Amino acid sequence: MKKLLSIALAGIMMLGIVGCGGSAAPEESAETPDTEAAAALTGTEGKLIWGTNAAFEPYEYMEGDEVIGIDAEIADAIAAKLGLEAQVENMDFDAIIPSVQTGKVDIGLAGMTVSEERLNNVNFSDTYVEAGQAIIVKEGSDIKSAADLKDKVIGVQRGTTGDEYVSDEANGVAPASVERFANGPDAAQSLLTDKIDAVVIDNEPAKKLVENSEGLVKLDENLTSEQYAIAVSKDNEALLEAINGALKEMKDNGELQAILDKYLNAE
Ligand code: GLN
Repeated sequence: MKKLLSIALAGIMMLGIVGCGGSAAPEESAETPDTEAAAALTGTEGKLIWGTNAAFEPYEYMEGDEVIGIDAEIADAIAAKLGLEAQVENMDFDAIIPSVQTGKVDIGLAGMTVSEERLNNVNFSDTYVEAGQAIIVKEGSDIKSAADLKDKVIGVQRGTTGDEYVSDEANGVAPASVERFANGPDAAQSLLTDKIDAVVIDNEPAKKLVENSEGLVKLDENLTSEQYAIAVSKDNEALLEAINGALKEMKDNGELQAILDKYLNAE
């Protein structure tokens, strides 16, 4: 804890130093101190580049050539609070963490669940939503609960916690096989054409997939209990702290809840 604190302090001090460097030209620093501090946060010229997989409605999805959804609004709100401009980078889900690690993107914001394994590679912000895995089947399927997934062909999105849940023998799902898709809509399409027996995917995206494709139903059961958070490079403690500050403000002033209410179905 103490170590974390001192790293954070070092980060803040470094920001201070960058700020002071700028103030060698007094007229400039008087006008733009915040911009300089903000630019130092990401090192991408005033941008907050967020990596995501925009096929995960309601969190991130395409409308024309724009990425919209809960995470898109969170990215915009956080960027605004930090004096940065949000810019999205759309990629496969399993490319997001490597992209955060290499600095191709500043953050991963993708309905991403905090997990022990991922924490080996990135830091996570405070959590911003509770989620879980759900099962989608075709109408009239004999799969009525998780126990019925045994010996069935299950579709998942590659590299997700849903993939992990059905693939990890310790969870006892015991499927005949696991088919890994690039995204949820591809898995749903495969289910509709009877190539697979069920899809396991996050609860809210499962609702949207069922809404968007006739003939599919979501079972009520939740298989897991998960928390979404924002992935940040382990090398950028200052950005992590800044994001947590922005998230806290959004939680405290109701901004986050308003975004969630806009996109999530009322229960
Ligand atoms: N929450 C899941 C995970 O983190 C799925 C995220 C996603 O597909 N965008 O693995």
